[in-house]
Amino acid sequence: MKVTILGAGDAFASHGSCPACYVIEGEGHTILMEAGPALLPLLKRAGFAPASFDLALISHLHGDHFAGLPFLILEYMWESELKKTLTIAGPRRLEQRTWTLFENMFSHFPEEKVARHLKFEVLEAGVSYDFGAIKVATMRTPHTSPDVSLAFRITLAGKTIVFSGDTGWTDELVPFCDGADLFICECTYFDSTHLDFHLNYPLIAQQRSRFNVGRMVLTHLGREVYAHQSEVKIELAFDGMQIEV
Ligand SMILES: [Zn+2]
Ligand SMILES: [Zn+2]
Repeated sequence: MKVTILGAGDAFASHGSCPACYVIEGEGHTILMEAGPALLPLLKRAGFAPASFDLALISHLHGDHFAGLPFLILEYMWESELKKTLTIAGPRRLEQRTWTLFENMFSHFPEEKVARHLKFEVLEAGVSYDFGAIKVATMRTPHTSPDVSLAFRITLAGKTIVFSGDTGWTDELVPFCDGADLFICECTYFDSTHLDFHLNYPLIAQQRSRFNVGRMVLTHLGREVYAHQSEVKIELAFDGMQIEV
């Protein structure tokens, strides 16, 4: 399995890093995970064909994770016709929020042309889903309320990766990651240890030994983390990072 981290930044594009965007490939399948606002240029720069995805996964309904979807839909409308159905899976209201966003950005466009090739699927927390060769288990993270935010445990080509999505600390992350080959974990803060809806580096470092994972990479990096880079002892993601799992 190969993971390409196209966007390792937070919502503020700290340090010039783009907000969340990942591509996972294995056994001839391609997953788009997260669709930050820079989705389209990131995909094209990296040479990924926008119509090639078998599945799109969205962790939660914050703009730095799903605001790229209207541009993907626009791409499918005019530039890269979808030849097969694309399942876009994420928390409740993803479908409604995506189309509302699209209509606000591109009013009176021929949505039906693309809508019939898109299948929005609601992912509930604590459930395992089967998308053919791709298995996805979910966990609710303490990040948004009442909207649901999710972490993903994805198995493909005999390998397992866990993605924290955006999350505050919860002990549930430890068993959810157990045995994973790769854990891509958010690390938004360094000094702001009082905030409970994102993780901070001192806390992750303190908890690191509890995670039984092959490799851990920190992502969703905020300004404070970049300012303390020399003190960080866990691998940091960067835009364009490729990880063979
Ligand atoms: Zn968020
Ligand atoms: Zn975020």
